[in-house]
Amino acid sequence: MRIEIINTGSELLLGTTVNTHAPWMGIELFKLGLRVQRQTTVPDGEAINLAMSEAMERSDVVIVTGGLGPTSDDITREAAAEVLGVELITDEAALRSIEAFFAHRDREMAEDNKKQALNPVGGDILPNPNGTAPGIYTPPRMSGDRLCALFLLPGPPSEMRPMFENEVEPRLRSLARTHEDHHVQVLRFTGVGESDFHAKLDKELMAIADLEVGYCARTREVDLRLIGSKKSTEQASQLALSAFPGMCFSQNGESLEEIVVKLLDQQGKTISMAESCTGGLIAHRITNVPGASEVFTHGFVTYSNPAKQQLLGVSATTLEQHGAVSEAVAMQMAEGALAKAQADIAVSVTGIAGPGGGSEDKPVGTVWIGIATATSSKAIKKFIPYGREIFKQATSQDALNLVRRTLEESSNEAC
Ligand code: ATP
Repeated sequence: MRIEIINTGSELLLGTTVNTHAPWMGIELFKLGLRVQRQTTVPDGEAINLAMSEAMERSDVVIVTGGLGPTSDDITREAAAEVLGVELITDEAALRSIEAFFAHRDREMAEDNKKQALNPVGGDILPNPNGTAPGIYTPPRMSGDRLCALFLLPGPPSEMRPMFENEVEPRLRSLARTHEDHHVQVLRFTGVGESDFHAKLDKELMAIADLEVGYCARTREVDLRLIGSKKSTEQASQLALSAFPGMCFSQNGESLEEIVVKLLDQQGKTISMAESCTGGLIAHRITNVPGASEVFTHGFVTYSNPAKQQLLGVSATTLEQHGAVSEAVAMQMAEGALAKAQADIAVSVTGIAGPGGGSEDKPVGTVWIGIATATSSKAIKKFIPYGREIFKQATSQDALNLVRRTLEESSNEAC
């Protein structure tokens, strides 16, 4: 479990106060079998936000001390809310206990002390019987691509130390236990939308104990993020895989092009492509993958009809009879690329990106994707009327997915 400590306070850097929190916590954490991975000291102000957001991206637990007082330079609470992307709201119980602290000492409570009862949404208040500033604990939540828990503790040692022993240590023990059986799995799907997951799977996933589910949708791609015990993440991934058969292209976060290059490499095959409306995007995506040269020598960007004829051997009659955006031309483009590049598999795309060029029977967004191997060729029709950029990205995605599925089928047949 990666633990970082951030000690805040300009006085610690000016040298007027010696930072005793860092060594004290190091010793206490070591007694629990835990180690501090990094310790940072920052002055009061903006530096706290930056230190906190950086630490949370690389750690499982971040412990921040200081800056929970009532004065204007005490901004740790606000910084945490900003980094977590949540609001601060008054915790009524915390406010009552601050009022009681003053009443008990027969002192009047200043208006500024009220801000010490502010709590970032989702945070737990850590009682402070030795001072006015309660601590705050926010349970693990996603920060970058990892889960991170956050503790905010008061600066005075006489308040921080008892709070650490009574409130922080028990939570750290339980975090360390769950950390040992803690799995993160990202399943990537294409050909299925985020709303399909909500409709078909949400209820069943929610019923699995000890599981956190998250989604991230991009053009023609949905990530299903599963966080929990090994048992719960396995159960959830099985449910998702059987709900959408053949649509999951990666079970550990790889991109579609990485999967395609991996499959080609495993099968000792090479690929070529004949691209019209994607203008080279499929080749671009393939060549983004390290090691692409093992599986790819060249492709063809044939935007005009003469280019399709000259470079790929598409027949003038087919172009005339069916038009450039047609099943027959898509197939001939793929077959041409296969032959000219002497590849084992070739994919082609021909479509109408828009905004002009559409007709009643071939509206803007129509695209044919062809695929050819030594033994067969076919083409499928898609409709992607969402503007040129999305059209190109989605078409390249569907084309790469068709390659993936063809390669997977051929390897299943070989088995
Ligand atoms: P307060 O309500 O006292 O303002 P706070 O949570 O805002 O509490 P700070 O103002 O940052 O805490 O610190 C209060 C005092 O605690 C400092 O003046 C200093 O004496 C002590 N202190 C803070 N941080 C440390 C540290 N890392 N090591 C030793 N002493 C510290």
